[in-house]
Amino acid sequence: MNTLPRFDAGDVFNQSPPYENIDLFSSDLPLQEAVQANGGGGEASALAAFGRQWGTTEMFSLARRANENTPKLYTFDPKGFRRDIVEFHPAYHDLMRTSIAGGLHASTWTPAGTRAPPPAEVLRSSRYYMAAQIESGHLCPITMTRAALAALAANPALLAQVAPKVVSTSYDPVFRPWWEKQGITLGMGMTEKQGGTDVRANISTATASGDFYAIDGHKWFLSAPMCDAFLVLAQAPGGLTCFFVPRFRPDGSVNALRLQRLKDKLGNRSNASSEVEFAGAYALRVGDEGAGVRTIIQMVQLTRLDCALASAGFMRMALVQAVHHSRYRSVFQRHLYDQPMMRAVLADLALEVEGAVALVMRLSRAFDQAATDPREAAYARLVTPAAKYWICKTAPGFICEAMECLGGNGYVEESVLPRLYREAPVNAIWEGSGNVMCLDVLRALRRDAEAADLFGEMARKAAPLLGGDAAFVEGRSEVESEAAARITVGKLAVLAAAEALGASAPPAIVEAFGRTRIVHQHGTLYGAERMDAKAAGSLLQRALPEV
Ligand SMILES: Cc1cc2nc3c(=O)[nH]c(=O)nc-3n(C[C@H](O)[C@H](O)[C@H](O)COP(=O)(O)OP(=O)(O)OC[C@H]3O[C@@H](n4cnc5c(N)ncnc54)[C@H](O)[C@@H]3O)c2cc1C
Repeated sequence: MNTLPRFDAGDVFNQSPPYENIDLFSSDLPLQEAVQANGGGGEASALAAFGRQWGTTEMFSLARRANENTPKLYTFDPKGFRRDIVEFHPAYHDLMRTSIAGGLHASTWTPAGTRAPPPAEVLRSSRYYMAAQIESGHLCPITMTRAALAALAANPALLAQVAPKVVSTSYDPVFRPWWEKQGITLGMGMTEKQGGTDVRANISTATASGDFYAIDGHKWFLSAPMCDAFLVLAQAPGGLTCFFVPRFRPDGSVNALRLQRLKDKLGNRSNASSEVEFAGAYALRVGDEGAGVRTIIQMVQLTRLDCALASAGFMRMALVQAVHHSRYRSVFQRHLYDQPMMRAVLADLALEVEGAVALVMRLSRAFDQAATDPREAAYARLVTPAAKYWICKTAPGFICEAMECLGGNGYVEESVLPRLYREAPVNAIWEGSGNVMCLDVLRALRRDAEAADLFGEMARKAAPLLGGDAAFVEGRSEVESEAAARITVGKLAVLAAAEALGASAPPAIVEAFGRTRIVHQHGTLYGAERMDAKAAGSLLQRALPEV
């Protein structure tokens, strides 16, 4: 007779159920409030439908498969002819198709290439924030496509041809000329081997040839190389200039973009980032010769907003994975969720996301209104680099803390956390790295009286929290000093977040954020701030209502 105790490995207990089939909008009160406060409340039910669509098990599965099955470069065909194509897994194409159908790539534009009316930015941003929680690699071409029209405005005739293809909600991944397609995607090439920040050091050249230019040279990073065309910087006789470089020449032959290899990246693995050489590539000028930086910066400003949105989305997903797990997992006969120290950590994480989401939605409203309101335009100039700096640099440490809340499970690949953790640093690096963002803020504060005034106003509003001391930000020496720029920009970001929260969240949340982030100048560790039990409970309920 078998006397061994029965052990069935199928009996799983004290584990949380999968966090799937959720409504990413309706389960997220801080997002709903921020959308409402910034003019998007009328679309709540459409946003909830989007949130349900993106929160399904199928979407989580697409995200996993698109990252497990990374893109492959085919440089040549079997006979030695150049192919220069990248193949993606079907899951990547499904993600692209879904994002494009949802308008993430273009809903802020009209078919004429002009800005869609408010609250187009706020609505798109809330959708982008939700999609980024699920999969971010494919959002690279989505972001570049939507941003490119801002630069293409410098060539109105080209914009008129390209914009209707861009705003289409059909995804067409077939490799053929852009003018034959119903929907197209656009990328950008600025970074060369010798410099990404300092694009004026670009050595690729552009030679005029009738009504087009021929580009020779290289780009060290060219992401999403299967985009239908790229905005590329190269040195023309009149200086650094922006060009539209399609994958096909007007005669239908493949343009001379030679894909050399794909980067083997830390994260962002569903997305292909190539090294490319140009061998007399056909190009159309966008803007004047010598105006390259001024032209492409219109695009870059929009991509920076998306970096902040995506990183805020990563933080949101990391937070809810942690809160969800803690509600099911018991340690020492008590749910983690009810352990005082775990609650302190989770509530502090939730407070960080409150500030981040309030800030990105407020910033999106500034993009909505910048064309008609100079103060909103100044806000966008000042706060975009500050938000990108603060949120994108916060995300990796934040996700690490959330991962730890799940213990060993959090470190394992099938949980969403490792992918979020690997993905997070890139948003701080590309589209202007941390220091570069801080230099941008300093430039705005020095040269732009309206931007400097906005900073002072934020400090004055926060003064009651600081015992009446608005001097928190007003030390001129810091604004003058590059070495102290991170101090200045860190302050600006939390002041802007507190101000944004003031317009969307209940007073207790605003007070907790102001006290911990402004008065105490919260460090990089979470759960090391005193927070009363009521505030912690409220933050956790707001983050993810208990069902
Ligand atoms: C996955 C991935 C995909 C990418 N895709 C694209 C793409 O599609 N198209 C494209 O054009 N580029 C792309 N890039 C390139 C990216 O935009 C650049 O890497 C980035 O702009 C930084 O440039 P760099 O790598 O040359 O670094 P550098 O310019 O050498 O900068 C290095 C560091 O120095 C800091 N620094 C620079 N100037 C100063 C200063 N004055 N004071 C203090 N610190 C300073 C920067 O903040 C940075 O931390 C991609 C990068 C990655 C990682």
